[in-house]
Amino acid sequence: MEQRLNADRSDHRGPTLPCDCGKAARYAGRREKTFQSALGELTLERAYYHCEACEAGFCPRDRALGIEGASLSPAVTRMVGRVGAMVSFAEGSELMQELAAVPVDPKQVERTAEALGREIAQDERRVVEPEMPAAPTMYLGMDGTGVPMRASELEGREGKQPDGSAKTREVKLVTVWTAETRDEEGIPVRDPGSVTYSAAIESAASRDTDELPSEFAQRADREARRRGFDQATRRVVLGDGAPWIWNLADEQFPGTFQIVDLYHAKGHLWDVAKDIYGAGSDLAEQWAKQRRDELDEGKIDAVLAALQIHAQANDEARKCLDYVTRNQSRMRYPEFRAQGLCVSSGVVEAGCKVAIGTRLKHAGMHWTVAGADAIIALRCSKLSGRFEDFWERRSAAAAAGGAP
Ligand SMILES: [Zn+2]
Repeated sequence: MEQRLNADRSDHRGPTLPCDCGKAARYAGRREKTFQSALGELTLERAYYHCEACEAGFCPRDRALGIEGASLSPAVTRMVGRVGAMVSFAEGSELMQELAAVPVDPKQVERTAEALGREIAQDERRVVEPEMPAAPTMYLGMDGTGVPMRASELEGREGKQPDGSAKTREVKLVTVWTAETRDEEGIPVRDPGSVTYSAAIESAASRDTDELPSEFAQRADREARRRGFDQATRRVVLGDGAPWIWNLADEQFPGTFQIVDLYHAKGHLWDVAKDIYGAGSDLAEQWAKQRRDELDEGKIDAVLAALQIHAQANDEARKCLDYVTRNQSRMRYPEFRAQGLCVSSGVVEAGCKVAIGTRLKHAGMHWTVAGADAIIALRCSKLSGRFEDFWERRSAAAAAGGAP
């Protein structure tokens, strides 16, 4: 392979080639560089052109092979992208050695996966290819989850630590799915393989003076258009009770059903029960089950009354009372169910775990914003079945000589 590539000297295309700066770059002989390929190390001798105006140079072959500025071949880069999306950089390095017999040290796995993730994040912003809605009813969920950060990324930020400092930054996630499948009881459940994810550490807050919606609102809009959510006959936004979710839903997706994910609502009631009666106690279980049944039966007033009793003495109960009061129109579960809508998917919650938690929230992991965003983009692309499409665009761009 090495011999064959090095025997081909067609990359010497005359004494000069145009440089990106507009001036001419002059042929300056052949240069050697060693690349890590899936077949082992490859030392390539490539024609090198140097531009005096910008005091830099390039190798046309590197551009054609998509290895400019890299020390890994495209196939190895792609493998590293895959493992970097799924496991820690150290584990990724081990997998590369064990499965492909390609040595890539953990630091290089990190650099390569993050560089690829940044490319994917840019690609996600740039490319929206709208699909037809996959079903008459489409669901869009939003949620946030904290990711542990390096101290330097948190200076001056307020957080939930006892001293008011922060340990995490919030990743916001949007997920789209369909739920035409019915379980034994006829309840809509998520269709296998229908879930896509998009997420980043971004703000969802927009002020009246802003010309554009917030970064995250734009992300949610892109994902909605990509999936044909905006074209669906019935559109449902599901989320926890966080105000930013419903502000964004009002602004970006007017005229949709707004439903507080029953899974979240029940979780909040369990937290109150544990706080009042103690975790694991029979009373806590009894209280939470009663509230759960009331929610299921649409007896919001009964839930509010039960919370009211404890609101004076118990902080959790008071917070939950606010939450249910604010969101009661989004908690009309029997009505939603009667219309055949999915109200308790767990998809949103699972989305945070699957897309973010299992990769980014391990003991000892501390991220930079840029690093976390890159790996999140890589992972969302992979989990949403978009990595191949991205790779095709990347290869096509490299072959056209305009590596992004
Ligand atoms: Zn130049």
